[in-house]
Amino acid sequence: MSILKVARMGHPVLRAKARALDTGDLKSAAVQKLIDDMIETMVEYHGVGLAAPQVHQGLRIFVASLDVEDEDKHDSDPQPIALVNPEISVVGSDVVEDWEGCLSIPDVRGRVPRAREIRLRAIDRNGERLELRAHDFPARVMQHETDHLDGVLFFDRMRSFESLTFLDEYSRYWAKD
Ligand SMILES: [Zn+2]
Repeated sequence: MSILKVARMGHPVLRAKARALDTGDLKSAAVQKLIDDMIETMVEYHGVGLAAPQVHQGLRIFVASLDVEDEDKHDSDPQPIALVNPEISVVGSDVVEDWEGCLSIPDVRGRVPRAREIRLRAIDRNGERLELRAHDFPARVMQHETDHLDGVLFFDRMRSFESLTFLDEYSRYWAKD
């Protein structure tokens, strides 16, 4: 496996719409290696999610370290999952604003409104269909990562830039302990 270079804001790949994969694509060693490398890259940089355009690949794949299975299993460590061709539908009408960061926008945080609850349909790395329901933090991560596949960055979703802060100042003034 290898750690991949992460595209930073300003690179056109982050503004392009990524293409869907078919099950044939998923059988290719190159795509399976890409998924492994994305997971390794996400872990290396302490991300909770990473989308393929962030590593210069215009493909509808993201990886995330999320405990989305069952809210009762609090003690299980989140395992990285790969989601391919994700489609999000919003459940209910609750919108919550909270802090986000992005490996492509290093050392910056801002408050972003997101749907509290979503349903996500996708295929996994073996081509199996899956459907997840998520709320709050995992739902936020999935919305952020799916946005990357459409060339959308979290700044685009902010209601105002008043909350934008560098990471040091975030830690000093805004982080909850
Ligand atoms: Zn991001």
